[in-house]
Amino acid sequence: MDYQNQKVIEVAELLKSRIATLDNKAEILRAVELKALFEELKVLPADQRAAFGKEVNDLQNELREIVAGSSDKQADLKPIDLTAPFDINVAKNKRSNYLRSDQGSIHPLMRELETILDIFYRMGFTAIESRQLDDDYHMFSSLNFPEDHPARDDYDTFMTTEGLIAPAQTSTMQNRILRKYKDNLANDIPIAAVIPGRVFRNEDLDARHEHTFYQIEGVYVGKGINVGNLIATLKTFLQEYYKKDLEVKTQPYYFPFTEPSFEFALSCPFCEKKGCNICSQTGWIELLGCGMIHPNVLKEAGIDPNIYTGFAWGVGLDRLAMMKYDIEDVRYFESGRLDFLRQFS
Ligand SMILES: [Zn+2]
Repeated sequence: MDYQNQKVIEVAELLKSRIATLDNKAEILRAVELKALFEELKVLPADQRAAFGKEVNDLQNELREIVAGSSDKQADLKPIDLTAPFDINVAKNKRSNYLRSDQGSIHPLMRELETILDIFYRMGFTAIESRQLDDDYHMFSSLNFPEDHPARDDYDTFMTTEGLIAPAQTSTMQNRILRKYKDNLANDIPIAAVIPGRVFRNEDLDARHEHTFYQIEGVYVGKGINVGNLIATLKTFLQEYYKKDLEVKTQPYYFPFTEPSFEFALSCPFCEKKGCNICSQTGWIELLGCGMIHPNVLKEAGIDPNIYTGFAWGVGLDRLAMMKYDIEDVRYFESGRLDFLRQFS
């Protein structure tokens, strides 16, 4: 850039040589010499102001471009040695061996989630991720858990000192989804959403129990929706997912937020009901909880239960995947065991 004004020429030279010495190149944009030029602009006679102002602006833009260019170069730098911050004195050949990110692969649960969401997209559902921190209202009150109801104790939740809850189930999103889409109902557009998310429970850990796992919630509300629609939807999904014809059966269960509530079982996809290890020799696998959405839950979201009905379900993503691939221990998913993860890459 060629400047005409002598002061601008001098400041430009000065700042361009200084920028080479700065660790944080952006500091040059706050240089007092640059500020002084802008101050001077204010007191110049009106007939000189335009030409001088243009040059000062040009200089500022030139410096900005130099700063932006330097940060691009920083992105090309080699990644920091992650071992260094922990113990720089450890000999190089004894430091942890971190994998390069380009050698990584998608986590098996996330790959299964993509497959499952694809099935539900094709069935007309939309997907909304749940939150990893929520409040008492969405965890309990909006789901028809009365205050002091013993069912609240069934959920051994993690709480922050501020009283926020790490959700024990993705149902925490039901009220938000129902509210978000309820206006569609008047136009005969049903509410159809699946809600994948990470959930947390204070469990004693073993091969079938983990403190952190994934659920997929589903909500469907419209006119004249009944248990038959619920069973058909879940059966269609499971047959798509396991790529097999399956029998399903329901048995009564209790959840505060559905009435009636069911436990949903499917014929074992691995032994054709003959009995195997995966189904504990019973031929059936109890897989998920579901039911018709309780009228109080609809009312709480501003939906008239006398006009609209709907169903909801919740299923463990880890469990679906464990069954599909015959994985014997749920803890493998969160353990960072590379020998396990590599089988799915
Ligand atoms: Zn079986």
